[in-house]
Amino acid sequence: MHDFIVVGSGSGGGSLAYYLTKGGAKVLLIEAGKMYRKDTFPKSEADTSAQLYWGGGIEFDKDARMGFLRTKMVGGSSIVYQCLMDRFDDIAFNDWKSESGVDWFNNQDMAPHYDAVESDMLLHTFVESERNGNARLFVDACDKLDYKWGALRRGQGDCGADKGNDCLACLGGCHRDSKQSSLVAFIQKGEKLGLEIQTEVEIGQIESNKDSVTIKGINNGKPISFQGKKVILCGGSFGSTKMMLQSGYKSKLPALGNNFASHPQFMWFGLQKEKVDAHKLMFQSVASKDPNFRKQGFKLENVFAPPISIAMLYTIYGAKHQQYMKRYRHMQCIEVAIRDENNGTIQIDNKGKLIVTKRFTDSDMLKKSKGLEVIKNILSTSGAEEVFESSLYFGLHLMGGCVMGIDPNKSVVNPDFQVHGESNLYIADSSIYPNAPGINPGLTIKSLGHRLAQQLIK
Ligand SMILES: Cc1cc2nc3c(=O)[nH]c(=O)nc-3n(C[C@H](O)[C@H](O)[C@H](O)COP(=O)(O)OP(=O)(O)OC[C@H]3O[C@@H](n4cnc5c(N)ncnc54)[C@H](O)[C@@H]3O)c2cc1C
Repeated sequence: MHDFIVVGSGSGGGSLAYYLTKGGAKVLLIEAGKMYRKDTFPKSEADTSAQLYWGGGIEFDKDARMGFLRTKMVGGSSIVYQCLMDRFDDIAFNDWKSESGVDWFNNQDMAPHYDAVESDMLLHTFVESERNGNARLFVDACDKLDYKWGALRRGQGDCGADKGNDCLACLGGCHRDSKQSSLVAFIQKGEKLGLEIQTEVEIGQIESNKDSVTIKGINNGKPISFQGKKVILCGGSFGSTKMMLQSGYKSKLPALGNNFASHPQFMWFGLQKEKVDAHKLMFQSVASKDPNFRKQGFKLENVFAPPISIAMLYTIYGAKHQQYMKRYRHMQCIEVAIRDENNGTIQIDNKGKLIVTKRFTDSDMLKKSKGLEVIKNILSTSGAEEVFESSLYFGLHLMGGCVMGIDPNKSVVNPDFQVHGESNLYIADSSIYPNAPGINPGLTIKSLGHRLAQQLIK
């Protein structure tokens, strides 16, 4: 029997499985998706959506208003993420602590875990020469308007930007093993130490026994089961919550499926007379770092996307759409991500289908409008000839559903990551986030994995 079975191999599961294996344990990592490597990731944008995402692309909330991006493969969402690695600030940890009652939610207690994870990743802070046209327009306008901005820190090795390689392609998996996904930074290293990986198994049922946990799933249409001394769910906000709901935990833990948040993102485009080439080089190298924006609950990022995604974001039709798309190289793009309230819910219907409800509160709407006002100022200061707001918006940072806390009536896992009332079942991914930090979540998810691994190995 394995000492530990980790279910889900994304940001949380990848780092946890690696640190447990490194600590000498016998570990099995189970993943619903396939294993892709640097030379087998899909080569086109359309194949990326169809092959790497749950549901073959975007999933929507119950009202079909908000889109969610969630991937299914070894490495999880870390395969497609931008790998911007930020530690939380005191604001984020204090809010977590007051919501959950967990006293180690602070920068001092988390520092050793951040340090350990950062030392296992190649990290790079962008310099001026790496800014593309979109970033330069953003920086110049922010300086004129006296908005504070800063260079982003990304997990990457050699991206080959100086050899003409554009990093937009790595949104479908990095073909150079440069981007520090969980696959590159942890799982591939874990394999060398004896980490076992079972792919294409979707776990649906969890049964806790006295000294072990049995998990049951489907592999290529056939039932399959595993038994581990301890099982840790790392299926992400939707995945772990769904496994827990399917296994009947809602009757014991009323908070299961609650407190969902996702940092909703809204994108605006400015059409410039000159070419911007926002798809070139490091397409995301700067972001707002303005304490006033942080206080008001939003941040801006200098983002872009490949042509099919941009075509979808331009929600107009026919000749007008064609005219805009012909100006792809002239597009300047900025997104606002809001620190939304955690009022969403994750449920399943009687066929086991996920139902996600996410409605904006008045305070969320205020954050959005304040952010969009700032974007409008930046675009007009940059001299955009025309401005376009996409009516579609997305959640890329899926958080909550199995939140951590001291009260079993308001949370699902205790401060030791154990499901309340269970001694061998744990959760360690973004589903345990008590609320939205308003900061990129990936580094903290990995660091929580390190914390739990240390605790379990001890
Ligand atoms: C396009 C994009 C860009 C992003 N950019 C950044 C960024 O720059 N910085 C940052 O910090 N964050 C970023 N994020 C967010 C970040 O990727 C996620 O917050 C993080 O990866 C979540 O980690 P996780 O372990 O909770 O879940 P995931 O990484 O989603 O991993 C969950 C894994 O569990 C598997 N799974 C689910 N259910 C089951 C089941 N029943 N059985 C077996 N396996 C299962 C899934 O297939 C998946 O592989 C981005 C996200 C996206 C989509």
